[in-house]
Amino acid sequence: MNPWLVAKQQLASVAESIGLEPWIYNKLSECKRSLIVSIPVKLDAGGVKMFEGFRVQHNLDRGPAKGGIRIHPAVTLDEVKALAMWMTWKCAVVNIPYGGAKGGITCEPSELSKSELERMVRRYTSEIGIIIGPEKDIPAPDVNTNPQVMAWIMDTYSMNVGYSSPAVVTGKPVSIGGSQGRPEATGRGLMIVVKKLLEKIGKKPHDMTVAVQGFGNVGGAFSKLVSELGCRVIAVSDVSGGVYNSKGIDIDDAQKYAAKNGVLKGYKACDAVSNEELLELKCDILVPAALEGQITSLNAAKIKASYVIEGANGPTTPNADKILEDRNIVVIPDILANAGGVTVSYFEWIQDLQSNFWKYEQINSKLTDIMSEAFDAVWDMMKKKKCSMRLASYMIGVGRVAEAVRLRGIYP
Ligand code: NAD
Repeated sequence: MNPWLVAKQQLASVAESIGLEPWIYNKLSECKRSLIVSIPVKLDAGGVKMFEGFRVQHNLDRGPAKGGIRIHPAVTLDEVKALAMWMTWKCAVVNIPYGGAKGGITCEPSELSKSELERMVRRYTSEIGIIIGPEKDIPAPDVNTNPQVMAWIMDTYSMNVGYSSPAVVTGKPVSIGGSQGRPEATGRGLMIVVKKLLEKIGKKPHDMTVAVQGFGNVGGAFSKLVSELGCRVIAVSDVSGGVYNSKGIDIDDAQKYAAKNGVLKGYKACDAVSNEELLELKCDILVPAALEGQITSLNAAKIKASYVIEGANGPTTPNADKILEDRNIVVIPDILANAGGVTVSYFEWIQDLQSNFWKYEQINSKLTDIMSEAFDAVWDMMKKKKCSMRLASYMIGVGRVAEAVRLRGIYP
């Protein structure tokens, strides 16, 4: 299903539940600004190849726009619009002063050399330079973008404005103004959510088995941290497929294997499973941490986990959501569960603006406070309204954005 239609459908459900004024609903149903750019890239072998890129700002009523940049062949304007809208609600759920944005380039990065990738990222940054900036819109990493890519974005923007501007982008290497703890922040946020969930349901980490789809920045860090917490990670996967071991996977070893071989496929200490089979494994907690649209009406009835914790953005379609709810499977939604990344990005931006850098322990302790407070608020709302955690999160997130829109009004 088209992710933009999914995002709009989710907004429509919450608007009805909270009795949102039609004028606010209409405003929030659209993106404030969508920029489409064409990116000419000089190839190593000679010639120029064109790519298409996007930067979308959904809403700026609570502060400057914030959201990652994705490089993937399936990137479309509608996908970027959906991801931008989800960022608006996510920043509001964890109550940080940002609106939502997202960017993307339609491209398979593994088909480019490192220097072609660098030229593409730099030209894209220059093209979207008219709408990004530390006070306007601050990009971050997402699928297939890493600290090196963020460094190129920071450098290109800085060259164009004529001074170093570390606060224009987050997820940078620490040596050029990045934050301690940012690389694993989304995974750590997910682990904190698991910890909070276990407290609420009165279970211990060693009671829980976990399956994780996606073994990149989010899924990899989460798998490691949740094993350290004491849970048994029985399956992990990447684009090449998955691996399964009912006794638990040694995540450090699997990460070393994936780093050496580029993919998990062939990891010997486990049995092979497909990505589809991984989603349907018998486990307590399932964490989709790859791409959107993975749990659909076709497989929702076959999910055996008791809890689905969304590491990816938009992994569950609305129809699947309904099936999971009817089956009493608790879904902890993306806009709460994976908010650890944007929260530490917010810390990075503050540190850059003040040129004053914090210690690792301080970052993790502030992240724990923010994630725990947001989790408790959503849990209480779910109990009070007797609704799903998704609807409870949307009530809080959309409610906060609506309040800002109401107070600011429509200009002119
Ligand atoms: P990444 O590029 O680091 O990793 C993506 C992982 O998914 C890789 O292991 C890749 O092999 C795997 N993958 C790709 N296509 C797949 C498929 N069809 N089936 C199974 N696995 C597949 O990206 P990431 O930063 O870890 O992002 C993953 C998800 O988390 C995305 O939905 C992203 O929007 C979301 N997210 C990321 C952050 C962040 O800080 N990076 C924050 C919040 C949410």
